[in-house]
Amino acid sequence: PGDQPPPDPSKKTLVVLGTGWGAVSLLKKLDTENYNVVVVSPRNYFLFTPLLPSCTVGTIEHRSIMEPIRNFLRHKKASVQYYEAEATKIDYEKRVVYINDDSEIKGDVSATEVPFDMLVIGVGAENATFGIPGVRENSLFLKEVGDAQRIRNRIMDCCETATFKDQSTDEVKRLLHMVVVGGGPTGVEFAGELQDFFNSDLKKWLPEIKDNFHVTLVEALPNVLPMFSKQLIDYTEKTFKEETITIRTKTMVKNVTNKYIEAESAGPDGKKVIEKIPYGLLVWATGNALRPIVKDFINQIPAQKDSRRGLAVNEYLVVKGCENVWAVGDCAVANYAPTAQVASQEGTWLARMFNQMAKTQEIESELKLLSEKQEKAPNKEARDAVFDEIKGLQKRLRRVKQIGPFEYTHNGSLAYIGSEKAVADISWWSGNIASGGTLTYFFWKSAYINMCFSTRNRVLVCIDWAKSKVFGRDVSRV
Ligand code: FAD
Ligand code: NAD
Repeated sequence: PGDQPPPDPSKKTLVVLGTGWGAVSLLKKLDTENYNVVVVSPRNYFLFTPLLPSCTVGTIEHRSIMEPIRNFLRHKKASVQYYEAEATKIDYEKRVVYINDDSEIKGDVSATEVPFDMLVIGVGAENATFGIPGVRENSLFLKEVGDAQRIRNRIMDCCETATFKDQSTDEVKRLLHMVVVGGGPTGVEFAGELQDFFNSDLKKWLPEIKDNFHVTLVEALPNVLPMFSKQLIDYTEKTFKEETITIRTKTMVKNVTNKYIEAESAGPDGKKVIEKIPYGLLVWATGNALRPIVKDFINQIPAQKDSRRGLAVNEYLVVKGCENVWAVGDCAVANYAPTAQVASQEGTWLARMFNQMAKTQEIESELKLLSEKQEKAPNKEARDAVFDEIKGLQKRLRRVKQIGPFEYTHNGSLAYIGSEKAVADISWWSGNIASGGTLTYFFWKSAYINMCFSTRNRVLVCIDWAKSKVFGRDVSRV
């Protein structure tokens, strides 16, 4: 159909679902000429999630951390077909993926199917709500660009509404109470950014809100940032205290309404108490849940019946109970945390594996031809010559086949905690270095600039940092 090049029938069709950390790391390193590669994702860009919390307050503009998927694909040796669509179902038996164009503009065809020989699932995860009533209706998540834009607007809406004529003091306090639920790195980084925004900009632009603006972080566990070392947890909690961010640990949100949350904690006598906490802005950051397409796929594969947190994969990232289906990133469970670091290493490893698989097949078919040639050779001399060639190829084949299972290398954990401070647990040789403070913040900045996927992103992020430093963050609401 249309001007799309027909798939090469001599090659296998490799379908990749997603354009996030896992999928794009795979596409970057994949020799696309070995397969008919098809990418399906509703998002036609890669998003550099580590800097997304900075977009919620305008320290960085969201387009600076987006990279069009077309930009990655147009540099590939062989063309890759991209469909902006959501994969709605994988039919393992039929080996097809059903896809749906859910965007505003639809053509005559907006739902169809894509057959695959090989499939990589890299669809990431959804936001966990644990079925808590009112969360979806009243809170904002922080996962996608749209979420960051909504948060940025809501912050300003709360501030402007709080300064509306004749607003009561209680209402002003409620509107200016910014509540973040979940003390993982997403919640902590957002709370830090928000307090920065208030300290450096909002206070100046709207001096009338300065006595009532308040950030509270609510966490069910006894401390925030459970994946960091004790020393850095203490440092973060101390920094938040200095910045007047309230941390409410051992406090579990049980219900959400449009004006307050209901949270359970232990009272002074140890008995559980439920408290109503009014809020103006509520950001919900309690981790990951399965996407429907992944849930549905788990139900199709008997070997996945015990999978709760994602698709169980083996050490070669093959989805257990399947053939020629792999999973990477947050939708896969391989005993690693659901981080960008893991997803990108998995994607890169899979690309290497696919490249080697293609080379292996190429050598094997060459070997088959040579052995036929050897059989038909007219004399011993000719047979010996072919034999030498075969030996050389077999040696190459052994080298190519030497790909070990996927092994994750943990480079460390990094998080921005506000007021130009960051915390870092860095793996160094066989040990670990824990550091927190302003120097670590510069390390955080340089590490993330290095990790950006393109030079364009790097330049734009640096310009944004300079712009917000010189002119302050923009407080207009769009
Ligand atoms: P994603 O990057 O989420 O990509 C999923 C892709 O699948 C997207 O393109 C999506 O559009 C697409 N998709 C969704 N549904 C479908 C469907 N039905 N069909 C087809 N495609 C679909 N990790 C770190 O290591 N360091 C950090 O500093 C860090 N900071 C973070 C900050 C924030 C605010 C957040 C939210 C996460 C952060 N993470 C960080 C975690 C990291 O972003 C994730 O672990 C990582 O994105 C996982 O990669 P992925 O490829 O599995 O999924
Ligand atoms: P998370 O799973 O790391 O943390 C969620 C927190 O919410 C938990 O501490 C949990 O106890 C708490 N929680 C759950 N339900 C609650 C409730 N009802 N009331 C109060 N608290 C509740 O989630 P995240 O921060 O979104 O991170 C998701 C993944 O992304 C993690 O693997 C994380 O490492 C990664 N990430 C990394 C970085 C970084 O490295 N800087 C930044 C963001 C995210």
